Order: sequence, then structure tokens, then C-alpha cells
Amino acid sequence: MPNDILCDIVKNPNEFQKTMLTKLHINTPLIESLILGEGLNAKVWLKMDTLQPSGSFKIRGIGHAMMHYVNEGATEFVAASGGNAGLATAYAGRRLNKPVTVVVPTTTKPIAKELIEREGAKVIVNGDNFLASHDFAIKLCGDKKRYIHPFDDPLIWHGHSSIIDEITKEGITPDLIIVSVGGGGLLLGIEKGLKRHKLSNASILAVETKGADSFNKSIIANELIELDRITSIATSLGAKKVSKALYELKNNKNIISHVVSDKSAVKAVEKFLHDHRQLVEPACGASLAPVYEKSDELNQFKEIVVIVCGGVGFTLENLSDFNF
Ligand SMILES: *Cc1c(COP(=O)(O)O)cnc(C)c1O
Repeated sequence: MPNDILCDIVKNPNEFQKTMLTKLHINTPLIESLILGEGLNAKVWLKMDTLQPSGSFKIRGIGHAMMHYVNEGATEFVAASGGNAGLATAYAGRRLNKPVTVVVPTTTKPIAKELIEREGAKVIVNGDNFLASHDFAIKLCGDKKRYIHPFDDPLIWHGHSSIIDEITKEGITPDLIIVSVGGGGLLLGIEKGLKRHKLSNASILAVETKGADSFNKSIIANELIELDRITSIATSLGAKKVSKALYELKNNKNIISHVVSDKSAVKAVEKFLHDHRQLVEPACGASLAPVYEKSDELNQFKEIVVIVCGGVGFTLENLSDFNF
């Protein structure tokens, strides 16, 4: 590096960061869990995306999409979400030095708003559900002010697919990946990543909670349906309708739809806190539940990776509020 450039970098550390920025997520640990593997004839690996700086895997896709849009000239961002997508957008905006507005529904807890505001984003309360906030957010957008969808964007799927790059780099060849499904962005990313690494033979257990089971219901109905309302406590899985791209994968024999109860998801959260000392949302507990319950669907597999997708919307107080 020529000396004069080096001097500029030293004088202006932000400039240095800008030139080095290639991604906004971190490579997360992949650890074997002996305790979750107990009683199974398989190794169980945990992909710890709960350790992402935004507290969930969402920064992978949203970070990738936002960097792409900045390269295309975007100067500002708008998101609609009172949860992990809103927080990931706010985090990415801070790192990219671009203003972010997050429209949250009236049901959003004060703690969630605080987390988003701490990242420097502006929070607007509008609408009493995601779709209403989404409609309002779209109206705020313009040419250079881009809307960031929580799951329905190929750039987001591409960003999420980095999970598979990291797993294969560790030399692990999973035959089953367990993943929670809300709108399906995470699953679509996993599917793309598996394809890229020629691992399309691996199966994907697509887990939803009862009351947020829009993918499972669509498979049964044989059409892309919209739930009337979300009744599960796993609010991060609360997309009333999954991405069309996910629905189109319904005949892929390697994708196994699985529904767990809220009770199973919360029990799994509790056990995981005990076993691995990490507090995750019920949306993530949903993926841990089939392992804790030794679900029959796991029997034929040998190398199981659970995507520990994380989530910031669940506290110890919330956990003790549930008396199942
Ligand atoms: C968003 C989210 C999900 C669901 O992801 P989709 O891409 O919408 O399917 C699962 N768990 C957590 C913690 C989330 O934040």
C-alpha cells in the first residue's frame, strides 16, 4: 500500500473501515452439542447465529441487501418490523452510515423500540400489525430511500446462504439442517447455499409453531394461503403468508415441514438456556424442540445442524411468565 494512502487511513479511521467493509455479519461458531445429541444416533451441531451483533441471523441477508443497494446509490432505508428484522436494518444502517427509519406496529414492546433506537434509527409507530406497518413504510420510500423486506428478496436469501459457506468451511457435511420458518427467507437462503455447495441431497426440517404455521397449512391446502391471524407466541415466525418462492419448494422431497406447539418451543428455550447458557426466542426454540423431543423425523440422519437463529425479543421475565 503506498505510504500516502496509509497516512490518509490513519488520519481517517472511518475511511479505513469503509474500504475494508465486505460484510456486516460475523462468522458464527459451529459447535457440537453432546447433550442435544444424547439418545440420537447422530451428531448434533449448533450454528450459533444468536451471537450475531444484531442478535439473530437476519443481519446476514439484510446486511448483504443493504450493501448492494448502497452500491446502487441508495442513501436511506426504511423497514417495517418490531422485531429482529427492524433491529438488523438499524444495525446495518449504523455500520453503513445511512439513516434508517423503522415502522413498528402498535403491539411492539418498549424494549424493542429502545434496541432499535439505540442503533440510531428513527422509530415510527404505525399500524396494528405487520402488514399495516409495511403498507405505511412503503409510502415513505423513494428512489434513493429503499424499503428492506424482512424475508422476501433474493438478495436477502443470498446473504442468508453464507451460513452454508461457513458450515462447509468447517469440514462438516450435514445430512439434515433444522431451520425455523417465518416467511421463509432463512430457509430459502439455506436451500440456495446447499445448492451452491452441491449438497442438495441434504434434507431441511422446516419448523413452525402451531398458530404461525402458514407454510404447513399451505402444503396441506395445496395453495399459498394467508392465515387470518397469528395465534402463536413465536411472533418472529408470524408471517401470515410465506414467500411464494418457498411455497414453490413444497414438492421438494428434501424439505420436511414440521409443526411444534408453543409449549414445546418454550420448553426447548428453557432447556437450551440450561444446557448451553444462551437465551433465545421461542421462534428459535421451535428448531431446538424436535431435537429435545427426539422426533422420529430425525432417525435417518447422522450429521444434524440446528440453525440457532436467536432473536432479541424474549427476556428471562418473559420465560418465567409461561407456566405450561
Ligand atoms: C425472522 C426470524 C425467523 C424466521 O425467518 P424467516 O426468514 O422469516 O423465515 C426465525 N427466527 C428468528 C429469531 C427470526 O428473527
